[in-house]
Amino acid sequence: MNNDIPVFAEQRGDRLHSSVPQVVTAAKALAGQTGGKVIGLVVGATAGAADALDKTGVDQIVTVADASLANYNALRYRSALAGAISQLQPRVVLLPATFMGRDLAPRVAARLKLGCATDVIGLGIGGNGGLDVKRPVYNGKAFCHVTFPTGKTAIASVRPNTFPASTGPGGAPRSAIAFTASPGDDRATTREIAKTGGAVKDVTEADIIVSGGRAMKAEENFKIIYELAAELDAAVGASRAACDAGYQPHTRQVGLTGKTVTPKLYVACGVSGAIQHLAGMRGSKVIVAINTDPEAPMVKVADYAIIDDLFKVVPLLTQEVRKLKAH
Ligand SMILES: Cc1cc2nc3c(=O)[nH]c(=O)nc-3n(C[C@H](O)[C@H](O)[C@H](O)COP(=O)(O)OP(=O)(O)OC[C@H]3O[C@@H](n4cnc5c(N)ncnc54)[C@H](O)[C@@H]3O)c2cc1C
Repeated sequence: MNNDIPVFAEQRGDRLHSSVPQVVTAAKALAGQTGGKVIGLVVGATAGAADALDKTGVDQIVTVADASLANYNALRYRSALAGAISQLQPRVVLLPATFMGRDLAPRVAARLKLGCATDVIGLGIGGNGGLDVKRPVYNGKAFCHVTFPTGKTAIASVRPNTFPASTGPGGAPRSAIAFTASPGDDRATTREIAKTGGAVKDVTEADIIVSGGRAMKAEENFKIIYELAAELDAAVGASRAACDAGYQPHTRQVGLTGKTVTPKLYVACGVSGAIQHLAGMRGSKVIVAINTDPEAPMVKVADYAIIDDLFKVVPLLTQEVRKLKAH
């Protein structure tokens, strides 16, 4: 086993996921403690993703390329990553705790019979020389520390938007590891990929999010949220109540069972701020609540609150942003 820290470089359609440079930051800090290299691990035939990864300041890039890895497939990616880890024998492997990372990390750990900690927000090398991580539990009400034993690779997925993105000069050496499929990899195959969302930003990738809750009352009423979001170059988010009611797809849901976000600005329109919603967005730098109820939990955690009807306030805000941008 060596002191290197490979980072799974999640990509889709040859586009590096925005959380990868953040995980590289966490890996660099760890590598500073272990004295190893940060290795960017790209799965799939992905020259563009590897080029983007190079700009994050990794020390080395390793690709596992095969035509069957062009699109994400849990079983094949598990085999690819498990094969790479078996060859590289690193001390720690990090993945982003995205939907893909959450799916993949435990599968790889189970395949290799290794320990795995998910959704971590702090990492270091513990007194025993093993990986020591901090992860939120009980909707973020408490934290637990997990210490891994030494002598085996530790696997951890890192919560997106916890660390700043890493940048570097580029020019990292590249090498390839051959893909070896495992028996059973074809048990699940991808028949169709239906893309949703179009040009609309994903909430995990945006600096600003405008979210709507149950108070939006109908899908068509989200038009005002989208208009404000467009002016602010923001993503549109939603509470689970709004998604369950069909006002927005669940891909936009923020919270415990949705996505975790830490944008610079989170504008919550008619979202009460239930603990499960707060669990996904309370790390936002600035929170603005627009709510008719001054006692709503979202108002309590907000930096700024507008106590009024969102159907009046949101279009006014959009107008004001347009005016400001015109100057
Ligand atoms: C296991 C579990 C997991 C969950 N996971 C999630 C999750 O991931 N994400 C999530 O969001 N929820 C989650 N929930 C649900 C959560 O408990 C709440 O039910 C949900 O967040 C409420 O959504 P809401 O704030 O949109 O609706 P409500 O709680 O109904 O709040 C609506 C708010 O709008 C305000 N309002 C009403 N009319 C107006 C108006 N005209 N203008 C301005 N304000 C107005 C009201 O004062 C109120 O504060 C989970 C629940 C469970 C049990």
